[in-house]
Amino acid sequence: MRILLVEDDPMIGEAISVALKDAAYAVDWVKDGATANNTLEYGEHQAVLLDLGLPKRDGLEVLRRLRQAGNSVPVIVITARDGVEDRIKGLDLGADDYLVKPFDVHEMLARLRAIIRRHGGQAAPMLSNGIISLDPATREVRRGNVAERLSAREFALLHALLLQPGRIFTRTELEERIYGWNEEVESNAVDFLIHGVRKKLGADTIKNVRGAGWMVEKS
Ligand code: CA
Repeated sequence: MRILLVEDDPMIGEAISVALKDAAYAVDWVKDGATANNTLEYGEHQAVLLDLGLPKRDGLEVLRRLRQAGNSVPVIVITARDGVEDRIKGLDLGADDYLVKPFDVHEMLARLRAIIRRHGGQAAPMLSNGIISLDPATREVRRGNVAERLSAREFALLHALLLQPGRIFTRTELEERIYGWNEEVESNAVDFLIHGVRKKLGADTIKNVRGAGWMVEKS
């Protein structure tokens, strides 16, 4: 899962960024509203954390433009404690949820999981294709009764695949979901992660579709 963080405060941005990376998300961090809109045109992110008070273009305007362009990426707005009007405006402009500063990073992570899940059409917190199940909150992965511990990036890979069982992902799509901009991606990085997941959960966990990409089967 790749998150776009839009926050101009260096301390808050750093704290959020670290918490997201610790929770196995890839994070891209931009510091003004105009860059946020430009970045979101590429559709590389699975969710957005959007501060409202931003240089160049405020967060509400970023949101307005995003929704006007037909982009439905889930957005959580970050507002000040006394910003009740901003929260209402944000929700009415198409935000999915909000956080009030200062907030607990665990609450932020739980809200992110919830909006990503709902956006993927999943009401249940556990993801499963009938063979493998994955809990985004505890990062536990199971095959039958056997629990396995995946590395952060193996987890990110399997999480992306299990959100849409039956969909084939290209190498580029998988890389986009696992790595942020400033991370060096080796050409065989995805193969390496797939190998790791198969070794732990079984060779048939991830199917290769020759010339197209990879998928997990739909039950
Ligand atoms: Ca701000």
